[in-house]
Amino acid sequence: MDYLAVFLSLKGRRAVVVGGGQVAARKVDALAKAGARVTVVAPRLLPQLAGRAAASDLEHVAAEFSPEQLDGVALAVAATDDAGVNGAVSRAAQERQIPVNVVDQPSLSSFIFPAIVDRSPLVVAVSSAGGAPVLARRVRAQIEALLPARLGVLARFMRERREKVRRALGALARRAFWERIAGGATASRVLAGDEAAAAEIFARELLNAQVGASEATGGSTPGEVYLIGAGPGDPDLLTLRALQLLQQADVILYDRLVPDALLERARRDAQRIFVGKEPGEHAHQARINELLVELARAGKRVARLKGGDPFVFGRGGEELEVLTAQGIPCLVVPGITAALGAAACAGIPLTHRQLSHSVTFVSGHAAFDGSLDWRSLARPAQTVVFYMGIAQFPRIVARLRAAGAAADEPAALIEQATLPGQRVLRSDLARIAELGRREQIASPALLIVGAVAALAGVEIAATAAGATAVAAEALA
Ligand code: SAH
Repeated sequence: MDYLAVFLSLKGRRAVVVGGGQVAARKVDALAKAGARVTVVAPRLLPQLAGRAAASDLEHVAAEFSPEQLDGVALAVAATDDAGVNGAVSRAAQERQIPVNVVDQPSLSSFIFPAIVDRSPLVVAVSSAGGAPVLARRVRAQIEALLPARLGVLARFMRERREKVRRALGALARRAFWERIAGGATASRVLAGDEAAAAEIFARELLNAQVGASEATGGSTPGEVYLIGAGPGDPDLLTLRALQLLQQADVILYDRLVPDALLERARRDAQRIFVGKEPGEHAHQARINELLVELARAGKRVARLKGGDPFVFGRGGEELEVLTAQGIPCLVVPGITAALGAAACAGIPLTHRQLSHSVTFVSGHAAFDGSLDWRSLARPAQTVVFYMGIAQFPRIVARLRAAGAAADEPAALIEQATLPGQRVLRSDLARIAELGRREQIASPALLIVGAVAALAGVEIAATAAGATAVAAEALA
């Protein structure tokens, strides 16, 4: 290792930054965040620094650098574009045994600034020892995506309870307890922004741990379920929270619409259970519900991964109901529903100031149970997206026509949206069903009806691996 990684306490201590430009301003920010009293030495300041000086946020010494300005300071930074000045700062600091950083010049520096992920009080620092800052920043960005935004809140939540736990449990039990808290329902509740629920679960867990410690019966840790929307298929369309929870789940239940590439993003050693239903297999759902309950009861963190969004034709609501009734903590993570993925890929805006003022998602399954108002769906100036039931598409089209939709109303069929096999077929209501049959459109696919479907959006490749988009039969 070229450097020792440490975190320096600068609260209330003086730090000098030489230079008044952009780079200096960034260093001033970093130092001020750590509570340092910052002095900026520079003949002139950038407006943002001048503003801070005016607000007494920093002290401004409007002069050239001279060594005695470093007397008695805790840390120095040289951020000028003058090599002579930077060198002088470095020498003066080293003579005084003051840690010094010369921006972008490790050889003149006794310390370097790492790239950081700030979830204060939790901070991750990344350094390439000054050798490849771009690489360090990329690593930083990757870690940034993995760490929940509210991790700092969780760190504070735990800090506030440290003393209480210390008094309640012995050293060995304590460590196991904190492990359970950090990886369990308490943490996921805090990270989802529900501190009240977290505090309740925490209190219960602490009680369990105390009882367990004395009676060795131990209240087993309650598991929990994450109902996660996996998006339309492209793994890069997972949300950050979905990714974070997939990385910590012990078991993953997934269905037909979740591709392997997406499962690859989950924790390597997680158990994977395929619970894919063929369309219309309803008895199966009861078994899935049972499985979710069983696994959570056994203390597992269960990710229930569903295509698109769990609450759009996903039966996520039923699963949530069952779990809630059984008292099992459950988190719902929204996903990009197929209509949104398909619209983006096909370049079809679902609403449009001139063409469409509303969008309706309709289940093709339910299309003929009498629950739909076809006359309202057939009206112009709106967008209707039919999910499921490719087999039903010809009947759906006929029904729309019978209810008054125009023969030349634009329509598009989108198959495997955002996936490598993506296809987009555009036509109008008179011809779309035949086109779909001829091109042998297969599940998963959806039908978009409305003037927006005619917009000649550029089809956006689903993945770099080359989506095939069949731009068949443009509107005459
Ligand atoms: N919860 C899911 C929908 C489940 S219903 C969501 O929010 O997207 C399953 C239907 O979604 C499929 O029959 C198909 O109509 C549609 N669908 C899902 N993924 C799709 C994709 N990648 N491309 C096109 N349609 C898709």
